[in-house]
Amino acid sequence: MGLPGSRRTWSRAVLLAALIAGAMRAHAQASPALKWYKGNTHTHTLNSDGDTAPDEVARWYREHGYHFLVLTDHNFLTSVDALNALMGADEQFVILPGEEVTDRLGDSPLHINGLLVERLVPPQGGTSVSDVIQRDVDAIRAANGVPHLNHPNFAWAVTAEDIKRVRNDKLFEIFNGHPLVNNNGGGDRPGLEEMWDDILSSGKRLYGIAVDDAHHFKRPWDPTASKPGQGWVVVRASRLDGRELVSALERGDFYASTGVELEDIQATPQRLTIRIREDRWSKYRVRFIGKNGRVLREVTTNPATYDFTGNEGYVRALVLESNGKRAWVQPVFLDGYGAAGSGDARPR
Ligand SMILES: [Zn+2]
Ligand SMILES: [Zn+2]
Repeated sequence: MGLPGSRRTWSRAVLLAALIAGAMRAHAQASPALKWYKGNTHTHTLNSDGDTAPDEVARWYREHGYHFLVLTDHNFLTSVDALNALMGADEQFVILPGEEVTDRLGDSPLHINGLLVERLVPPQGGTSVSDVIQRDVDAIRAANGVPHLNHPNFAWAVTAEDIKRVRNDKLFEIFNGHPLVNNNGGGDRPGLEEMWDDILSSGKRLYGIAVDDAHHFKRPWDPTASKPGQGWVVVRASRLDGRELVSALERGDFYASTGVELEDIQATPQRLTIRIREDRWSKYRVRFIGKNGRVLREVTTNPATYDFTGNEGYVRALVLESNGKRAWVQPVFLDGYGAAGSGDARPR
């Protein structure tokens, strides 16, 4: 295997790599070690239309290897203090407060989760889909919460154009485990993958989360049930703390999954590297995707790497497992693509 480019290019590359390695070491020394935490940010209990009491719900997640759980009942703020006293454990498991702000425009359901809201946020209503979402997002922010837009294709309520108009939101559900939410699109309506690329290609910075939207813990055999364990996020943070976790989510420092486990994700100015924790009998394919949903590269190696050219706009990755499981690696924005720093581009 020959070295790429001239000797001079090569030595410049070596120098650059040394500089980056030095900078990364300095960064590593300055900040505490980061760890990966698995969690679900969308869960119902008996306090709204779930079939199970909050303590049993929390126990399910704790016993199935999750580190955090956000309880998000419809227009109800389920208390987590007693649950944490019973089941919380430092660096092992925490239950976080949340609410599914359950709004509508006419017959269209418009649901926005508020993670860590400090008080109940009533649905705000509004005059258009994006107006309702914006008013709910603003009310969640005012309650010191972090909004995420839920199941856009549920009742075909929310389009990519609607989402492009909303500001101060950074998260939407790329996967929701409820059986009636049309994640894949159909007929004349796009699936969530296509909507995400449409939104990202407009310059809006938006990250994709996977959630259970669990309602039903008592009938795992029922295909119409909305069960736990369908979709989750794995977040890189310095410690298992609600504020640390949501700020990592809003930085895009996480991946979403329906079953694929990753060992690591590294983005340097030159390259995106993804390491998969492989199941013995599974095979994997990693698709790197850029502006307008263009497939930039598809590989079957582990680790999977993509070298940035600099003009992709953004690069995200989809990890496909041979039994249909997936992981979504969050977009890396190149050269200040989108609204640099603010993360909430205005529509164009
Ligand atoms: Zn909902
Ligand atoms: Zn829900």
